[in-house]
Amino acid sequence: METGRSGPPRTAPAPPPGSSTRPEAGGLDALAVTTLRGVGPRVAERLDRLGIRTVQDLLFHLPLRYEDRTRVVPIGSLRIGASALVEGEVELTELGRGRRRALLCRIGDGTGSLTLRFFHFNARQQETLRRGRRVRCFGEVRAGPVTTEMIHPEYRIAGDADEEPEEDRLTPIYPTTGGLHQLRLRALTAQALAHLAEPPASGTGLIEWIPNEVLRRFRLPSLPAAVRYVHRPPRGASLAELAEGRHPAQRRLAFEELLAHHLSLRRLRERVRRRPAPVLQGPGRLTAALRARLPFALTAAQERVFTEIRRDLALGVPMLRLVQGDVGSGKTVVAALTCLEAVEAGWQAALMAPTELLAEQHFQNFRGWLEPLGVSVGRLTGRRRGAGRAACLGALREGTISVAVGTHALFQDEVDFARLGLVIIDEQHRFGVHQRLALHEKGRRDGLYPHQLIMTATPIPRTLAMTAYADLDNSVIDELPPGRLPVRTVVVPDTRRDEVIERVRNACGAGRQAYWVCTLIEESEALQCRAAADTAVALSEALPELRIGLVHGRLKDRDKVRIMGTFQNGDLDLLVATTVIEVGVDVPNAGLMIIENAERLGLAQLHQLRGRVGRGRRESGCVLLYHGTLSETARQRLAALRETHDGFEIARRDLDLRGPGEVLGTRQTGALQLHIADLARDRDLLPAVEQAATLLLERHPGHVAPLIRRWLGEGVRYAQV
Ligand code: ADP
Ligand code: MG
Repeated sequence: METGRSGPPRTAPAPPPGSSTRPEAGGLDALAVTTLRGVGPRVAERLDRLGIRTVQDLLFHLPLRYEDRTRVVPIGSLRIGASALVEGEVELTELGRGRRRALLCRIGDGTGSLTLRFFHFNARQQETLRRGRRVRCFGEVRAGPVTTEMIHPEYRIAGDADEEPEEDRLTPIYPTTGGLHQLRLRALTAQALAHLAEPPASGTGLIEWIPNEVLRRFRLPSLPAAVRYVHRPPRGASLAELAEGRHPAQRRLAFEELLAHHLSLRRLRERVRRRPAPVLQGPGRLTAALRARLPFALTAAQERVFTEIRRDLALGVPMLRLVQGDVGSGKTVVAALTCLEAVEAGWQAALMAPTELLAEQHFQNFRGWLEPLGVSVGRLTGRRRGAGRAACLGALREGTISVAVGTHALFQDEVDFARLGLVIIDEQHRFGVHQRLALHEKGRRDGLYPHQLIMTATPIPRTLAMTAYADLDNSVIDELPPGRLPVRTVVVPDTRRDEVIERVRNACGAGRQAYWVCTLIEESEALQCRAAADTAVALSEALPELRIGLVHGRLKDRDKVRIMGTFQNGDLDLLVATTVIEVGVDVPNAGLMIIENAERLGLAQLHQLRGRVGRGRRESGCVLLYHGTLSETARQRLAALRETHDGFEIARRDLDLRGPGEVLGTRQTGALQLHIADLARDRDLLPAVEQAATLLLERHPGHVAPLIRRWLGEGVRYAQV
């Protein structure tokens, strides 16, 4: 059974029987697979499991790989692990000795010998494969005890003077599911490809939604040509190029998929912009008061971004703005100022954080900043229950709480705001586009929609931002507060643990605080927590003079928050933690960060973790501990971290070394649901995708909806907002 990521794009559910056409489509996306020969209920059910309901689905169900049966290869040139077509004369057929009974048939072609090994066989087969016969067979080449071997190859007896031609196309191997044979899929795709040849006038072809001028401009093959090529590449096609997904036909399909995604986000953005939002504009009395109370002045970058935000808020259409700012660049205070703009205009603001820990920290910060100005701040998290929660809900409904800080609990059904004018999402990479929209809907009041500000510390390379965040405007805080020193980073094998412990002793002895982060390769949270607990015990023994705390994911949120608070107040010297502290935690006195098994983490994550130190004006350090011997990639990754502190540079290198899942966060790329395109591999297409999208929107607006539907289906919420 072969399965793989290159599944089909999800199309609409099959039309109910009897209504097999859709007005603007009418092409192969309206033709059910059941119209093909050989598709009865059982096959249809198996195809359905692969997401294949229409003939178009089948055409977009791309091969995982290819086999080359177009050339007979000399046996002497076979390479272990490759699959190949060979032909030779049977030299010997015998029953194999050894633990497992097998029929062994040795063939030779003058360049070498090859053994065909069959564990399941019958007497007739033994007769067929008798000495002197010519056989042609196809299989994977393996190392054997005497000669190279093929186990259960496909084979047939070749004629005396074999006129039987080799195949003239590469053989596609499709992702499939139990009970659906490759031969069946090949037969079905052959029928589907035959439909492609039909004249467009017949209305059953694969409709080309990308206009000719775009195809020409970006030198893309036509859709039917691309589809035909990827299903049946001709003899001589480069297997290597196909395996890497770099053939123009494959890139044509990836291009169209990326275009559809990009268009859907652009369209979403247009629709949101047509909605009315409250005008949040006042004299700026509250923000002036907060600035006056801050112990620092905003950086030029913070000022610039805040000006961009203020401009949006004054427009009367919903702001949709992404603020990217490296770890420690000071996004929180910008969020607080933005909230004050809403409050001064008579509206409520909500700030949503991805974890209880972070929500609690923001709540404390906001209280300290806003309450002296007479602005009430409330907290709503999952862990709040009972009377406190009920009171908070009431106050939000009545509008006596002006700024609400919390987790996603803020947007549960029973939460009702009196006048929500602004939603801020911190550390956006944990939320997908859908959640973002749900919030937008949630805040709707009297026909007005709230403004949205999204803040992320994971810098996103521009090309990716264009695909994943094409619906958002972009601001960048590209400057750190003055006086920050780069965190001195060292890479150390864990055999030198004792020295590292000494370093912790010295740092804490000098009045600084430290983090010790335990990570494990195991995904299991339980094991991670155990490791952290064991480490805490070991460190307590080694460092009896220090006050050591432990936080991990298995603690109750209440306890996490309490321990974090103790650390924040300076009542703990060393905090042993799992990666729960990755995001947002801000304790300026912390000056040393130890990360165990650093070689197993992605750069973005390491950068986030390291960002927990270096937040004050004194020099800080980070020790990346690794276990065993470093692989070349791991060495490069850790070196990148040692050499640079620029989150954007790190994100770029991460993209090169690990792909976009790491950069955007798995959930974010998951939300994209790409089937054919691959953001890392195809990212060089993105600038052209953006231009093509603009062209389509301007000159061929009628093609936009069907193109989106082809790749994202009907069910995609954000295509319809
Ligand atoms: P992040 O962007 O990672 O969320 P924070 O908002 O937590 O960063 O800010 C990091 C630290 O820098 C906080 O302690 C914050 O009070 C401080 N800070 C923010 N802006 C400035 C500034 N302009 N000058 C000095 N310190 C600042
Ligand atoms: Mg933050």
